[in-house]
Amino acid sequence: MNNIILDNISPLPFISNNNSAPFVIAGPCSAESQEQTLSTAQELKEIGISVFRAGLWKPRTLPGSFEGVGAKGLDWLKLVKQETGLLVATEVATREHVEAVIDAGIDVLWIGARTCTNPFAVQEIADALKGHHEIAVLVKNPVTPDLDLWIGAMQRIVNAGITMIGAILRGFSYYGNNYYRNVPEWQLAIELHRRYPHLPILCDPSHMGGKRELIAPLSQHAFDMGFDGLFIESHYNPDEALSDKEQQIAPNVLKDIINSLIIREKSQSTENLEILRQQIDTCDNELLNILSKRINVCRMIGAYKKENGMQVVQTSRYDMILQKCINQADSLGLSPEFIKSIMSAIHQESVRQQLEIINDHRKDHSSITK
Ligand code: PEP
Ligand code: MN
Repeated sequence: MNNIILDNISPLPFISNNNSAPFVIAGPCSAESQEQTLSTAQELKEIGISVFRAGLWKPRTLPGSFEGVGAKGLDWLKLVKQETGLLVATEVATREHVEAVIDAGIDVLWIGARTCTNPFAVQEIADALKGHHEIAVLVKNPVTPDLDLWIGAMQRIVNAGITMIGAILRGFSYYGNNYYRNVPEWQLAIELHRRYPHLPILCDPSHMGGKRELIAPLSQHAFDMGFDGLFIESHYNPDEALSDKEQQIAPNVLKDIINSLIIREKSQSTENLEILRQQIDTCDNELLNILSKRINVCRMIGAYKKENGMQVVQTSRYDMILQKCINQADSLGLSPEFIKSIMSAIHQESVRQQLEIINDHRKDHSSITK
């Protein structure tokens, strides 16, 4: 992956550098009528929002759900701009959407999670954007936690000459029941930031949480992790919303949430922090050494199993280890889920290492018998 994003992005002009006021893009999931769009925008303007979002073409999981008002809503967004002075943002998924949005003078467009997952669709959008440097583009993560796919989508947009670009973490699809509508997987945003420190990253707690009560904690979490802003669904009458009503909040509720957020300094260089960071470095060294020691023991066990014709995976032994660690975790103040995932990763690697030993043996064996 080359680094075009790093070289060619410029700051999003609408994100203020004011550390104390969180930057928030807000608006309804869908524009439903001129009145709903304009009234919601006016209420959001009053609480200090500067960029208004509203979906016109809605990518819905099931056919027959409300699929948006389409291009006619562009007139309502133009009206919002005229009447309130807010910048306006909407989602695009096809060349026709991009052309219509450019014609209407929309300031910001976003590519949704489903579209981001499809490189053909993103390329079509990128081609339609060529020559339109005045527009800012926000790219939501794809539905699967595939960082390169996400970066690739942004790369296509940057390759088309767009320099005002940002990413939105909205979480990832999950099969089965989950506490979140879309699992956050914060580590993808952390890695994205590590690779491209100048790329603005917003968090969409609405689609991530899927419920009103999760918006405040997810928003605080995002700011604690150094996100540049939020992308939140707000509707003047959420209970009557035609799409995503469980996760939309009224502008006055949004105001309370914004006021309650604690925005911490992005970089601190206190001496205490340095001391704590040194302790972390020491812990990491110890962890690596102990892991290496454990793997060496595993390889010896692998050699023993090979000599004695035993199979690599002994499920009952693994279950026993796992249970013992989970029991111990609690008394050490560690979360059992965390220990479970760490032990499962360690076990996977142990199995891989032991298989390597057995396959080496097979290689030796086959060369002898040739
Ligand atoms: C949206 O922001 O309205 C939307 C459809 O989001 P997502 O692509 O995250 O599902
Ligand atoms: Mn929505």
